[in-house]
Amino acid sequence: MENTKEMRSWLDDMNLGHPLVIAGPCSAETEAQVLRIANELKDTDVNYYRAGIWKPRTRPGNFEGVGALGLKWLQKVKAETGLKTATEVANRAHVELALEHDVDLLWIGARSTVSPFIVQEIADALEGTDKVVLIKNPVNPDLSLWLGAVERLHTANIKKLGVIHRGFSSYERTKYRNIPEWQLAIDLQTRFPDLPIINDPSHITGKRDMIFDVSQTALDLNFDGLMIETHHDPDNAWSDAAQQVTPARLVQIMKDLKIRKETDSEAEYTRKLSNLRAQIDILDHQLIETLGKRMKVSDGIGQLKKQKNVAVLQSNRWNQILGAMILEGETKGLSEEFVLKMFKAIHQESINHQEKIINA
Ligand code: PEP
Ligand code: MN
Repeated sequence: MENTKEMRSWLDDMNLGHPLVIAGPCSAETEAQVLRIANELKDTDVNYYRAGIWKPRTRPGNFEGVGALGLKWLQKVKAETGLKTATEVANRAHVELALEHDVDLLWIGARSTVSPFIVQEIADALEGTDKVVLIKNPVNPDLSLWLGAVERLHTANIKKLGVIHRGFSSYERTKYRNIPEWQLAIDLQTRFPDLPIINDPSHITGKRDMIFDVSQTALDLNFDGLMIETHHDPDNAWSDAAQQVTPARLVQIMKDLKIRKETDSEAEYTRKLSNLRAQIDILDHQLIETLGKRMKVSDGIGQLKKQKNVAVLQSNRWNQILGAMILEGETKGLSEEFVLKMFKAIHQESINHQEKIINA
């Protein structure tokens, strides 16, 4: 893709002075609900009012959206509050209806980005549009699939583009609903530095009390904006109740977030530094997470050794590990001294874990 600067003119031309904010309920439920939330978000930093009209649910039987009727409510939102509107489209019929109802921003959901057939159908239906189109990352952590979707839309002569990072699903239980895998978003930024990237902390966390921290990390990594699900009565929302915040909380979040300016060279330095520090923080968390997992596996070995009445320390095995890790460390630029010290400490902790189990 050449001429990627053009893709972000829709955002630059807004001259916001703050990150782009897309907010509104997960789902449009009733006309009164849609209008109430929109009115509470009027005169805030919110730039686009979002509401899901067609809801792709992982399992059938959950609320699947009000359908085209809700698009009329979004038209009323625009007329009453002046807010621009945004919704998810997942096929040609959705695109046609959204365009007929003058929706300003259309996004492709994570479950659609995984399918090149669907993405192509949407790209064909949107060909040449002057609406803003944002592409959520696919549910699985696959950068090419995400980039491929951007390319399909770009090829369909859609000029106002951007991506939304909403995290990735994993079979493992984590504190996130969808793990952020920040490195993947950073890789995408490196490939297309001009492509606007919006963070969706609501779907990453699945929990409203984690939204602030994830938003701050995103801003530290120079994301261009945030999409935050907002509802006047989150606990009683028809979908994604646990992750929605009230309009008042959204305003507070936006007030408390530290927004890094990037004007003069001093600011450029701070920006680069905080970007690198945010990457270090992420890696440090991953280190602790990995070490925790390693000790859990070690506990499992302790259980087995206890059953078989085998000694905790088996020096052959330990020397093998150490030799292999020193060699592998070398290929990553790690000194022998460092790898040795680190693995001695890890090994000691592992022995402590196993002894605790055997002597329990
Ligand atoms: C949504 O934004 O409500 C949604 C369904 O998101 P995702 O496609 O990220 O799951
Ligand atoms: Mn949702």
